[in-house]
Amino acid sequence: MRTTRIITALVLAGLTVSGVRAATTHHHAHAHGKAALELTIKEGAIRGVFRTPMDNLLGFEHAPKTENQKNSVEQLRQRLSDASRFFAPNAAAQCRPTPSHFSSAMFSTGGQNGHSDLEYRFGFDCNRPRELKSIEALLLEHYPRMHEIRTELVSETGQRAVILKKDNRRLTIK
Ligand SMILES: [Zn+2]
Repeated sequence: MRTTRIITALVLAGLTVSGVRAATTHHHAHAHGKAALELTIKEGAIRGVFRTPMDNLLGFEHAPKTENQKNSVEQLRQRLSDASRFFAPNAAAQCRPTPSHFSSAMFSTGGQNGHSDLEYRFGFDCNRPRELKSIEALLLEHYPRMHEIRTELVSETGQRAVILKKDNRRLTIK
């Protein structure tokens, strides 16, 4: 009896772990045109981790060579400091971006010869959480090479997976 219970517990634990793994591993895939977003919303606090190939934002992923490319990298770095350039919660919720953190080989070592990714951690704090109805992925409008954002939303009402696209940029909440 006791043995059975332990085995059951182990099996359940194993299932949970593999379930979580299955849900997270695909974020690490590097496919041009695609990006991944993990969003958590709790009591008016939006927290996100956004991962994308740099190609989607810059059109190249190698260390910048020309003056134009160097400027593009610098411009992107500046834009990333303000999450409201990339994501827009609906205005009525009165959300303000929190300090963001981002990392990419292109910012640190200048980039390799292969592919480069961006990891972008951002957030918003909303004054009127009850008014929070949607978040628009402005990226899909501003960056022509970005076609699809696989989004996983965890909120008080549960967990949901949504694919945002150019003609469907708005993630509805609730
Ligand atoms: Zn690439």
